[in-house]
Amino acid sequence: MIQTTDRSAPEGIDAAIARVTALKRERDAFLLCHNYQAQEVKRVADAIGDSFQLSARARTVPAKWIVFCGVRFMAETAKLLNPSKRVILPESKAGCDLADSIGPEGLRALKTQHPRARVVMYINSNVEVKALSDAICTSSNALKVVEAMDSEEVIFGPDRNLAAHVAKQTSKRVIPWAGSCPIHEVFTLPMLQRARKNVPDACVIVHPECPSDVQEEADEVLSTSQMIETVGRMKARRFLIGTEIGLIEQLRELHPDREFWPVYEHKSCDEACACPHMKITGLHSVLRALDTGKEAITIPEAHRAGALRAVERMLEIGK
Ligand code: SF4
Repeated sequence: MIQTTDRSAPEGIDAAIARVTALKRERDAFLLCHNYQAQEVKRVADAIGDSFQLSARARTVPAKWIVFCGVRFMAETAKLLNPSKRVILPESKAGCDLADSIGPEGLRALKTQHPRARVVMYINSNVEVKALSDAICTSSNALKVVEAMDSEEVIFGPDRNLAAHVAKQTSKRVIPWAGSCPIHEVFTLPMLQRARKNVPDACVIVHPECPSDVQEEADEVLSTSQMIETVGRMKARRFLIGTEIGLIEQLRELHPDREFWPVYEHKSCDEACACPHMKITGLHSVLRALDTGKEAITIPEAHRAGALRAVERMLEIGK
């Protein structure tokens, strides 16, 4: 199911896709696309994945330009890992409420309170916060990264729900930052219980950014890439999914013979699970980015080495 929007492709989606394809060749551009992006954007992508997969891919992109269809912290990570490329975020306002929930002053204060703790920071963080961290993680490798730290205490931010998910599985003391993603916080336990009544035979899979009581009630707690892999292996026909709608749309395309619904009591509430930062990017944004070369990401020199070290630590641990 491909979504079309007037603003994205006034001349028709196929014509817009043809223009993007021609411009990509002309500019020598490679398009990385997060799982939460709109389906129309995924159609022009060279690689689609979660934050970890896209970070790993960004390191080896040979093209001159990387157009990152996602949000700012992702494009910053790509620039850290492949600094000679022009990394373009097609919509400069595509930020992340979760990443913005922690700043360097807050993290410094927490480090002062817990001087023996290592700092593991979720990739959903801004570059100045990454620079103060020992290692970065994604939802697919958070436990592995925390376990790899040579300390008994680990400061973990900025998502408190992912922190709680990790804390349940490790013997280390996890000290959480109290941030959360407003999209995943939409899901509540009563909502999930009502959704289960509506679709009683559904398998419930939620993201670890969902509240802890929702995670406990779910059948599986998985990152977006793990959701795609796991659904592919399962025999279930109906699923209730607790994450951003872009991933649910991707699953619907991959498995047209199965049913996927957001963890929501009304089946028509897809919009409630849409991240406005992710959905700000359309084909029109990609066309403009390829045409103008704007907005190119720059990394302040003061944060570059520290942030890169923390991201590379994650990639080493995740090997
Ligand atoms: S879904 Fe949440 S964590 Fe992801 S980009 Fe949007 S606000 Fe940030």
